[in-house]
Amino acid sequence: MATAARTFQNFIGGEWVDAAGGETFESLSPATGEAIGTFPRSGPEDVDRAVEAAKEAYRSWRLVPAPKRGEIVFRFAALVAEHKQELAQLMTREMGKVIAEAGGDVQEAIDMSYYMAGEGRRLHGQTTPSELPDKFNMSVRMPIGVVGVITPWNFPIAIPSWKIVPALVCGNTVVFKPANDTPALGERFVELLSEAGVPPGVVNVVHGFGRDVGDRIVRHPDVPVVTLTGSRETGVAVLEAAADHLKHVHLELGGKNGIIVMEDADLELAVEGILWSAFGTSGQRCTAASRVIAHERVYDELAGRLVAAAERMRLGPGWEPDTDVGPVINRKALDKIHSYTEIGQDEGARLLTGGEVATGNGLDRGFFYRPTIFGDVEPQMRIAQEEIFGPTTALIRVRDFDEAIRVANGIRFGLSSAIFTRDVNRAFRAMRDLETGITYVNAGTTGAEVHLPFGGTKDTGNGHREAGQAALDVFTEWKSIYVDYSGRLQRAQID
Ligand code: NAD
Repeated sequence: MATAARTFQNFIGGEWVDAAGGETFESLSPATGEAIGTFPRSGPEDVDRAVEAAKEAYRSWRLVPAPKRGEIVFRFAALVAEHKQELAQLMTREMGKVIAEAGGDVQEAIDMSYYMAGEGRRLHGQTTPSELPDKFNMSVRMPIGVVGVITPWNFPIAIPSWKIVPALVCGNTVVFKPANDTPALGERFVELLSEAGVPPGVVNVVHGFGRDVGDRIVRHPDVPVVTLTGSRETGVAVLEAAADHLKHVHLELGGKNGIIVMEDADLELAVEGILWSAFGTSGQRCTAASRVIAHERVYDELAGRLVAAAERMRLGPGWEPDTDVGPVINRKALDKIHSYTEIGQDEGARLLTGGEVATGNGLDRGFFYRPTIFGDVEPQMRIAQEEIFGPTTALIRVRDFDEAIRVANGIRFGLSSAIFTRDVNRAFRAMRDLETGITYVNAGTTGAEVHLPFGGTKDTGNGHREAGQAALDVFTEWKSIYVDYSGRLQRAQID
């Protein structure tokens, strides 16, 4: 899979440029340590130039008819589809996820782009009657301006598409900072947008780190909208930094998602759903199932089956066809994941399998962690409360449905949840009572589709959603328009 590492640049105002300070950083493959490329380590000055370009481009982009903006996005969708294999291979090298999942990540961007391209011909507002005669009322969606897009590394093509594509269709321009662990994918995304016909300055990419580039985007007075997907800690920092300018801040943050398995569940299906949700993408999904809440009557059997299946999973580079679990993103993540194994043991949970860095067969070159399952976990333990973001899941035993719901809800996050049951009454109660933005019945905690809202309650965000129609609310502002054709002054609430 290795190819020569390249040197990359920022993309500002339609031109490829180095960082003003001349500094660089490297992107490395988490599977092998191979260098993917060298990128500009940008600073505030580079952000300022990108914002200037985006501000200038906004003057004409907002006036391009929305269906025409949609046509460009439609061409982008077709280009991403054409380059799907290439992008998936780059993803498996730069980010580490297995090739089939990398293909899914790219497919999500294709789906989102086709969906949002169609939105160019809708962007519906409302017309309503007026309370006064000879008067016409309507509401329309207006673009807002320059949108700052800050993304994580775990869905390096899908997540930029959730943000950049609707922002563009709605008539905004963009300054994009990809995660510094996956800059090559961010760069390819923007190259393809440009190839599809997005005019210079409409999308700009500035590579670098959160504290330099991200922070400047968030504080820049000419960036009225910031959309961030990242950890809770980063979300709080961004919200605070944006407060002075009263910006629109859209946050998609962490999760601690639970799967409930009732005593009447199809256990084979539940095991499959749990494995896919807990260990897919090596547990590095915001929707990963890091808790399994099992009815006491099936707990032992479920634990046994999960351990046996987890031990059969093959670790390796994502591009090898028989790999089930790829590496985690970097050394810091590996250390954090392992520290939670120690925390879990100190708390008195029982390590049923895994709990170690995987070595041998070339795995030492990358960052591999064995699929890890803890049993006898109490709901208040740190391993059941804190986001580990790795291939670790915690089994919690409950006596009945009500306790299962209580445990599932007993966390600060509210992204995804799932229940395996054959009882339709319980399924509907769970749909009503689980305090998450997404709930699955008889499936794991992952698997969102682009035309439904995506996001979470409680500390997972700040009340917004991406994807579906809901995303339009992040990237537009409502304007209410009153047209009086009576020829006289009519006073609302008075005449
Ligand atoms: P992170 O918070 O470390 O970084 C996210 C992005 O924010 C990166 O581009 C980073 O450079 C930037 N950043 C960091 N500090 C910043 C600051 N002070 N100001 C501005 N930008 C800053 O997260 P990560 O490790 O890249 O991703 C993993 C996290 O993302 C997990 O918590 C995961 O749950 C979450 N996530 C959430 C969703 C969701 O939709 N809810 C989806 C995927 C990932």
